[in-house]
Amino acid sequence: MRAARIVAALDAFRNAFPQVRPFYATKCNTDPGVLSVLHTTGARFEVASVEEIRILGTLGVRGQDVIFSNPVRAREQTRQASRAGVYRFAVDSREELHRVAEEAPGSCVYARLATGGRASVVPSEGKFGVDVRGAIDLLVRARDLGLVPYGITFHIGSQSLRPAALEAALGDVHTVLSRLVSAGIRLQMVDLGGGFPAAYDRPVPPLAAFGRAAAAGIAQLPYPVEVFAEPGRCIVAEAGTFRCRVIGVAQRPSGYWAHTDLGVFNGMMEVLESGGDLRYPIRDNRGSANRRRFHVTGPTCDGQDTYARDVPLSADLREGDEVLIGSAGAYTTVYASRFNGFARPRVVVT
Ligand SMILES: *Cc1c(COP(=O)(O)O)cnc(C)c1O
Repeated sequence: MRAARIVAALDAFRNAFPQVRPFYATKCNTDPGVLSVLHTTGARFEVASVEEIRILGTLGVRGQDVIFSNPVRAREQTRQASRAGVYRFAVDSREELHRVAEEAPGSCVYARLATGGRASVVPSEGKFGVDVRGAIDLLVRARDLGLVPYGITFHIGSQSLRPAALEAALGDVHTVLSRLVSAGIRLQMVDLGGGFPAAYDRPVPPLAAFGRAAAAGIAQLPYPVEVFAEPGRCIVAEAGTFRCRVIGVAQRPSGYWAHTDLGVFNGMMEVLESGGDLRYPIRDNRGSANRRRFHVTGPTCDGQDTYARDVPLSADLREGDEVLIGSAGAYTTVYASRFNGFARPRVVVT
């Protein structure tokens, strides 16, 4: 992981979203070295669990600079987060609202809205979120339960390729804010969530296009609010490169195969999650002018371990060569298991 690249990505985000305060989505890459770079650069953090709060705490991040956007938590997670100083919690059900009122009385809640259109490479929607009426219901009830109706959030889906998705979601936010005014409730915060894309093997819409879409939607809101966002992938993906070793090359009826000590189960899981749509830039260190297409696969005996097909590599690729996988800093090491007894990758921050 290249620290300078993480800092540059955070700067790029701030330039594209000048009115927005970034809370890095911790789950994307929880390496303490990575988190430390972000903390030093003044980022705040979005978490999904108490364990993430604990790791951040060891780096000096205070609970009040953390928001808890996982909308359903085991009740002890809310209790422990609250003890650690976290006071802002996402909700998307009446049940959760009651748990927050019991375990973190008086805290601030923000409602998670569902978003409509799907134009993201790695879908993260479909599980969470209420509609406009549901959000209004939750925020009114929050007040009745002694909580602070604080804000509203959504998530357009990870690796989104559609800036207009932000404007559409902010249209729903507008409706919620306007209707709450008649209930005597003014929210303080709107949280744009994450989903902003990183560059893999093909161009993506520039961050500035997402920033403009957000600014357009924010300008329409009925009254001024603080605006947050929870970028994950676009902050850390391009800073990471996997350096893995070719353990064998095989010629089979299906083509040429390069087997590496890295695979789907110890780093390349998002290839499966995206149904192969997420294509990492892959090269090798031999650099021969003579090229040949390889299927690139991991070390396990599992047929799902193949993470790239028909990749042009050095035709004379052989055991011991290095394969370099770019844009590997997001949702890779955090998914790595020891399936089949193979090691997790070691993270080095330079
Ligand atoms: C995972 C997640 C994010 C980060 O999404 P990216 O696509 O990595 O930007 C932000 N907010 C929430 C609530 C998430 O679950």
